[in-house]
Amino acid sequence: MMKLPDRIDEALLERLARRVTVTGEDRELLDIEAPYTGETFGTLPMGTADDVSEAARQARAAQQSWSKQSFRERARIFLRFHDLIFQRKDEILDLIQLETGKARNHAYEEIGDAAIVARYYAFNARKHLKSRKRKGIYPILTATREQHAPVGLVGFITPWNYPLTLGITDAIAALMAGNGALLKPDRQTPFTALWAVDLLYQAGLPADLLQVVVGKGSVLGQPIIESVDYLAFTGSTGTGRLLAAATGEKLIGCTMELGGKNPMVILDDANLSRAARVAVWDCFSSTGQLCVSIERILIQSTIYDEFVRLFAEETQSLKLGASFDYSADIGSLISAEQLEKVRSHVEDAVMKGAKVAAGGRPRPELGPYFYEPTILENVTEEMALFAEETFGPVVSLYRFESIDEAVEKSNSSTYGLHASIWTRDTARGRRVASGLKAGTVSINDTYRSTWGSIDAPMGGFKDSGLGRRHGATGIVKYTESQTVTVQRLLQVGPPRGMSEERFHNFLTRGIKLLRRIPGLR
Ligand code: NAP
Repeated sequence: MMKLPDRIDEALLERLARRVTVTGEDRELLDIEAPYTGETFGTLPMGTADDVSEAARQARAAQQSWSKQSFRERARIFLRFHDLIFQRKDEILDLIQLETGKARNHAYEEIGDAAIVARYYAFNARKHLKSRKRKGIYPILTATREQHAPVGLVGFITPWNYPLTLGITDAIAALMAGNGALLKPDRQTPFTALWAVDLLYQAGLPADLLQVVVGKGSVLGQPIIESVDYLAFTGSTGTGRLLAAATGEKLIGCTMELGGKNPMVILDDANLSRAARVAVWDCFSSTGQLCVSIERILIQSTIYDEFVRLFAEETQSLKLGASFDYSADIGSLISAEQLEKVRSHVEDAVMKGAKVAAGGRPRPELGPYFYEPTILENVTEEMALFAEETFGPVVSLYRFESIDEAVEKSNSSTYGLHASIWTRDTARGRRVASGLKAGTVSINDTYRSTWGSIDAPMGGFKDSGLGRRHGATGIVKYTESQTVTVQRLLQVGPPRGMSEERFHNFLTRGIKLLRRIPGLR
């Protein structure tokens, strides 16, 4: 076992391990590796289908009373969680870095995100879910209300790249809506998710309401779908397709937050030095292992050379390192598998004629999975990284002449998760944005401004997913809507003594009239 960073000790890891639901003693153990060194730092028991069933049973039992608590009572817990995150900030920063190998500045993004999502749903869940008056079939005579009931138990299958953000924030919305939750974090980063779960219990979450099972997605995925009433999945498009089909078979709702091949468009009037400085955050945050990371930059021809010069300078000045403080700008990739993907994409591109404008090499002297932030030019369709998501610190540069060409090239991907536009003319930027097939678009900033605008939905077009997280959609989806009407005086049908034909004539006049009355149509 490796030496742990100062704030992480065996006692903490043991406490977190006790949050995993297992029903037997004989479970296979999962080794958790620290990417900075490639050493194992902890182990957890791998769950089985029986463990999933037991976890679901416990969460459903706890959900019975939780669903009856008021929004205010639930909100108190999430606001306490918000405060505790900042009190325990250094500990969780260490843990995220330990499990993912990312730099501390990128680990901080996760803390900020978890806190603002907790705050947002604590203060806004009631507004999104309260019962609402709706227009009835007969004005005045029909009193119609829409109300929301929690679906019951929501399952979460989450990836490793943002283990705090993706491990807990969607569950916060589901819990605030009155549901129980069953979480399967990625096998590479379960301790971070367990830390968040443990903190929620410390903040006052009722026992058993939020369950964690650890293990292979291919083993636990189906039992989870069998056990839950809704599945929220974040991960690759390939896995998303399998899980969406399985939820379809069971006829339960799902959200699929999937991959991207996100473009940045630099227009000729952009502030180039700002765009170049900020583009390094957009391309290389979490060592490029970010669904909304920019992997393609399209630059208007007249400013191409100048932008490339500035962007290459910014990229080359980034400091890579494995340290549990803010001294490094960029950390490690998470695994040998990720390193191999990045290395093979770059090698394939270079072999087929791509030019390396910065980076392009692994850095084993820093740690086993380090790879330099890399900029490629002359990338063509035959190269694997032209269309495939690399999910690493590699970005390709392309020229364009007209805005139509930029929009067409941006939309040429099968993905449609995120895009970014740089221009001094924001009206022009908005016009370009409306032509892009991407779920979120940032103008003159990174993904941080769109992702962090959590009152608005976030998700993908095309192969980037189904459904949205954040905002009203991000919580309403965890409920069943129920429409209740109270009919006064007249029923929707002929009164006694009136023929169906007369009633239909009367109804036709009424329906035609409603078309003309503002406020009733
Ligand atoms: P992945 O292989 O799909 O894994 C994600 C999760 O799914 C893990 O918990 C994994 O479990 C589980 N899983 C794998 N196969 C499964 C199966 N057959 N049934 C049920 N669960 C299964 O994704 P990844 O490659 O690790 O993650 C990176 C991808 O996620 C990228 O494409 C990235 O763009 C995308 N992503 C999207 C968003 C978004 O918000 N749109 C955010 C972050 C990442 P194991 O532990 O067994 O692997």
